[in-house]
Amino acid sequence: MLIEEGVLLSSKTTLGLGGPAKRLARVTSVRELTEALGTGERVLVLGGGSNLVVSDAGWDGLVVEMAMRGVTVRRHEGFCLVSAFAGEPWDDFVARMIDERLVGVECLSGIPGLVGATPMQNVGAYGQEVSDTIVLVRAYDREKGEVVEFQPRECAFSYRSSVFRGKDRHVILEVRFRFACGEDSAPIGYAELARAIGVAEGERAPLARVRETVIALRRRKGMVLDPGDAESKSAGSFFTNPILGPEALAALESKVGPGVAIPRFAAPGGTKLSAAWLIERAGFAKGHTVGRVGISKKHALALVNRGGASSRELLDFAATISETVHARFGVRLEAEPVIVGQQA
Ligand SMILES: Cc1cc2nc3c(=O)[nH]c(=O)nc-3n(C[C@H](O)[C@H](O)[C@H](O)COP(=O)(O)OP(=O)(O)OC[C@H]3O[C@@H](n4cnc5c(N)ncnc54)[C@H](O)[C@@H]3O)c2cc1C
Repeated sequence: MLIEEGVLLSSKTTLGLGGPAKRLARVTSVRELTEALGTGERVLVLGGGSNLVVSDAGWDGLVVEMAMRGVTVRRHEGFCLVSAFAGEPWDDFVARMIDERLVGVECLSGIPGLVGATPMQNVGAYGQEVSDTIVLVRAYDREKGEVVEFQPRECAFSYRSSVFRGKDRHVILEVRFRFACGEDSAPIGYAELARAIGVAEGERAPLARVRETVIALRRRKGMVLDPGDAESKSAGSFFTNPILGPEALAALESKVGPGVAIPRFAAPGGTKLSAAWLIERAGFAKGHTVGRVGISKKHALALVNRGGASSRELLDFAATISETVHARFGVRLEAEPVIVGQQA
């Protein structure tokens, strides 16, 4: 097992932020993982670093970088069961599923990171979520010291959340999916995507066409990692879309005043609002920059490192945005990325 000392975590995160890791172990098997965990140090599990804000002080413990690889495809009558190990790059996995004519993750094309992180926040985009197709999650339980399995119900998937998020008890080892077989996608449930493909909402489209269109839409928003695109130096959306109950929604409507249409969508647990809309109306336009951090010119929800920034600057900027939105609209924005390490 490869163990390094003092690796700068800014080199491992898509934001390019984060101080040194005391030790970093790259694990390629369950045996290496248990060996690494056996040292009893504080542990940070690292996937592709695309949903992480690591403090400038770094991580005073062990970082376990997930590098277990392998995909197994088992064909059955009319469906397929596919297992992928945690260290598989997510978008390569999606591309392969499309090549295999498997249906269910095509709208999740172009999302960075590794397979093992996808259940953490129930990764989703353009009307699909990984919980639509996950049938099993295998994980190492650090309390019990054994490998355990989660059925979908036990994963408690919801919008950008699951039983795993915010806790460090389970290290996800493997994710199993059930896919339908076919040439065409699942019904397109997202208006912008349906329009871009040229089908009605609810219709299907060829898998490869859906992938191409999703990636093109994402690229326009700086949502595909690209060293040539400064607007993609982010952790994706920095805030989740808030879900309000009826009273909070009525309070917001009275603050905004009559005649203003608040973008909204029905969601489990209430009404989902657009965090981007709230941020822009609170006075933070796309491209708004403060020192070395700012809002992406292409996407109001993505905070970007404009070069040489610190985590402190980024988090202070995020706090200013959420305090301003709260003062103006009474709505609390929650950060989507996981914030780790001692913040100065
Ligand atoms: C440009 C861009 C676009 C994005 N677009 C989207 C999008 O459309 N939809 C979306 O949902 N997300 C999106 N994201 C966020 C991010 O890509 C996803 O959340 C992704 O699943 C994170 O994977 P990762 O491997 O990089 O995880 P990391 O950032 O490395 O880790 C994230 C969290 O998961 C934990 N973790 C990672 N792997 C494991 C494991 N095997 N076991 C236990 N814990 C683990 C980490 O400790 C950390 O708490 C985007 C990010 C970027 C930069």
